[in-house]
Amino acid sequence: MYRTYRNPYERACDCTCPAHHGQQRWTYNDPGCHCLATCASQPMILLTPEVGGAMFLNYHGALWYVPALEPGHWDWRYATPVDVGHPLFDAADLIIDLLRDTHKALLPLIHRM
Ligand SMILES: [Zn+2]
Ligand SMILES: [Zn+2]
Repeated sequence: MYRTYRNPYERACDCTCPAHHGQQRWTYNDPGCHCLATCASQPMILLTPEVGGAMFLNYHGALWYVPALEPGHWDWRYATPVDVGHPLFDAADLIIDLLRDTHKALLPLIHRM
């Protein structure tokens, strides 16, 4: 059975990242970060190969984009919030809704796992 968590933001890094191992991760553009998409500290992440990276919501609900470095790894140095002026901004509302609604829809199911 999987361990389930209401809030991924409270979880400590459990991958081999030299910057965060064993700690919570509050900044997503730490140049020393090597966290994986599967790291326990990583919130739900949407893989978007169409734009060469992945997107997720930070703990304030803001959308972030991180470029892919090599398969399975992310270039956290260049992780950036998708704000006005960002090339992906036009898709931001849609993706924020998708991630937020999915998170909300999963919450009632947590107790069944
Ligand atoms: Zn890290
Ligand atoms: Zn990690």
